[in-house]
Amino acid sequence: MVKTADVVIVGGGVVGCSIAYHLARRGMRDVVVLERETVGSGTTSKAAGGIRTQFPTETEIRFSQESQRVFETFKDEFGVDPGYQRIGYLFLITDPADLAGFETRIALQRRCGVDVRVITPKEAQGIVPALLVDDLIAAVWGPGDGLAGPAEITQGFARRARELGARIEEGVDVTALDVSGGRLRRVVTSAGAIDTPLAINAAGPFAARVAKLAGVEVAVLPRRRHIFFTEPFPAIPGPVPLTHDRSTGFYFRKEMEQVLLSPGDAQDMGDDFSASMDWGMVDELVTKAVRRLPVIAEARIAGGWAGLRPLTPDEHAIIGPAPGVEGFFLAVGFCGHGFQHSPATGRHVADWLLDGRASMDLSLFDPGRFAGGAAGAPRRGIDAE
Ligand SMILES: Cc1cc2nc3c(=O)[nH]c(=O)nc-3n(C[C@H](O)[C@H](O)[C@H](O)COP(=O)(O)OP(=O)(O)OC[C@H]3O[C@@H](n4cnc5c(N)ncnc54)[C@H](O)[C@@H]3O)c2cc1C
Repeated sequence: MVKTADVVIVGGGVVGCSIAYHLARRGMRDVVVLERETVGSGTTSKAAGGIRTQFPTETEIRFSQESQRVFETFKDEFGVDPGYQRIGYLFLITDPADLAGFETRIALQRRCGVDVRVITPKEAQGIVPALLVDDLIAAVWGPGDGLAGPAEITQGFARRARELGARIEEGVDVTALDVSGGRLRRVVTSAGAIDTPLAINAAGPFAARVAKLAGVEVAVLPRRRHIFFTEPFPAIPGPVPLTHDRSTGFYFRKEMEQVLLSPGDAQDMGDDFSASMDWGMVDELVTKAVRRLPVIAEARIAGGWAGLRPLTPDEHAIIGPAPGVEGFFLAVGFCGHGFQHSPATGRHVADWLLDGRASMDLSLFDPGRFAGGAAGAPRRGIDAE
């Protein structure tokens, strides 16, 4: 282990690896990533790979557009094929108030150049013939949205970061952050201490725990979500867009020959961060799934997993200098979209740190916005991952 570094990134998930790559690409030396397990083994390994431009703010839409450009050329730039496919995102709507919310967001998305539109229930059924659409009032279709492999993207960032000189240390636990005179001085780990003027918290669901090591409160609230998959199921032929039933939170898409399904749960597990699987969730899943996709009753569930989504009270990420501690930067709280926004996040964080300011207005992600009791429980937004 090195004894000094120009920057220490805590967490080798997709966010930490993207930041390391972008810092190294801009010529920063002595970039060190500390990952307590293995690269990409955290909540990144649980992501469904969904990529959408349908976000409620211009900042996030711009993050999506920039990230999608990176996914499109990722294979050439990083030498790893992430399996990027534009299969589309389809939201199914039963409630007029919900539709009104979509229409406001669609107006903004279209102003930003996104191809997204309201379609009829029949048109939705044309896209996914197995759907039951009797109770729908409309659907929202984003044909340019899609998916890619979180593991491949993370490995691509990590590989190029290493080639550019960054060190990525696996099996190293950050146990303390030494702060004196209001400034971060040292990162203490299970393998020794590193003197550094700058540490970046990219610890995913563990972000609040890592921030606390420096005496900083961060409103990252991990919530468990399950994903299940069927045995090969030709009765629903692919490709199938990521299809999200807004009335229940249920979503699904085709994954090779199988169908990937989620009940859309968001469970507060308190201090238990193990994200162990609750097979009892199959009942909730099946109830929601059969109501929207009757033919799925004939499928067999072959397996599943659970992971923690690092939510924030307003479901926007937290990016910026940690309030009250100089030399401590936060890139956390990416909710259900940390994978898909990782390319833009890495680029913006690197620019901010190396140029001394963000290259676009990132006040949406201001770490100070939950001060003074503004933090509450996460609200349920678009939430399709
Ligand atoms: C079921 C599910 C489905 C999802 N689907 C999607 C999707 O379709 N699209 C999408 O964009 N996003 C999705 N997400 C969200 C996405 O997975 C996250 O937003 C993203 O992976 C966060 O990346 P990260 O690098 O911040 O966190 P992580 O991948 O968790 O990386 C943080 C790393 O920090 C390490 N760490 C923590 N504490 C310490 C410490 N003290 N010392 C050293 N290392 C430490 C951890 O081991 C971990 O590897 C989904 C999440 C879940 C759970």
